[in-house]
Amino acid sequence: MESLHRPTRIIVHKKAIQENIANELARLPKGRELFAVVKANGYGHGAVAVAQAAIAGGATGLCVATIDEGIQLREAGFTEPILILGVISPLYLPLVAEYQLAFPVGSLAWLTKAAKFLQETPVAQPLLVHLKVDSGMGRIGFSTPVEVSEAVAKIAQIPQMVFEGIFTHFATADEAETSYYETQAQHFADCLAILDQLPRYVHCDNSASALWHDQPLGNMVRYGVALYGLNPSGGTLEASYPLQPALELVSRLVQVKQVTAGTGIGYGKTYTSSQDEWIGTVPIGYADGWIRKMQGFKVLVAGQFCEIVGRVCMDQIMIRLPQAFPEDTLVTLVGENGGQRITLQDVADQQETIHYEVACLLSSRIPREYID
Ligand SMILES: *Cc1c(COP(=O)(O)O)cnc(C)c1O
Repeated sequence: MESLHRPTRIIVHKKAIQENIANELARLPKGRELFAVVKANGYGHGAVAVAQAAIAGGATGLCVATIDEGIQLREAGFTEPILILGVISPLYLPLVAEYQLAFPVGSLAWLTKAAKFLQETPVAQPLLVHLKVDSGMGRIGFSTPVEVSEAVAKIAQIPQMVFEGIFTHFATADEAETSYYETQAQHFADCLAILDQLPRYVHCDNSASALWHDQPLGNMVRYGVALYGLNPSGGTLEASYPLQPALELVSRLVQVKQVTAGTGIGYGKTYTSSQDEWIGTVPIGYADGWIRKMQGFKVLVAGQFCEIVGRVCMDQIMIRLPQAFPEDTLVTLVGENGGQRITLQDVADQQETIHYEVACLLSSRIPREYID
């Protein structure tokens, strides 16, 4: 549930999303389409608003992880192609038909089950199938060209199914070393070569592949994390255009107090003031996804970095201020403040993880606001 009556907010800049898409489209070979990946509530940014910005920016389709995420977009009024990226149960074929959600097929056993199910439960609308090739991710998909051609033959026997796409996913597109990437690309090319006719969509690029590889295969890219202005490599590789971060995380000081030397702060008294200090309380905590590992990180108040002191609580943190700031002063946890900047990558470094995870785990308690 969103907590609206509290100053903690995620602010999403739609312009940044549109700029990132425009820059990517300018980089891509002419005619290649861009589907915006808005799974996991738009990587925590808000799926519907991100999808709107992405379509306005030139995306011609959307990708989600689950059926429910697809339905959410249809109910919000999107009529563009929507592709589910995860395996669905054959039991839900009537649902994906009804909402015209394309979905992946990655095994012959799945096709057999689906065919059987459809004999008893016919569906009225076409089922939009994208064959998934496992070219080296070891996740979902057919492993060999022979399996792919068997799948195509099987799909042709199921009257409700339309062979709309074929795709694969790269495991190392964000790395400087490209040999495994090239092995995967070759494997995918081998699977395409066996087809008499290519389907409407052929796609293999995620953000990293779209940014750093001039991939001759495919006519569409699945553009995810870079759409949000985040570098898929975490900074190891530089993007060929400046990625514009879309997300800001802000709050306000709800109390400011001066403590004397020797005062304990927070659960477990893990911090003790060494002199007279100004301590500010900020209403965000681990229940918002601002996890306990953020202890010791610095947030921005009036352009100055202020350390989070004491343990992160469920709903609050305490920060050491260089001076007495008035209550209600803006606190920036991610974003720019007074000429200084904190990025999701900085937060990820502190948490020893990747920015994808940080963004996704910002909880639904924090309201998302959108700026054009
Ligand atoms: C999540 C996902 C993407 C997008 O990846 P990014 O690294 O965010 O660009 C593309 N394709 C598949 C299959 C995915 O699961």
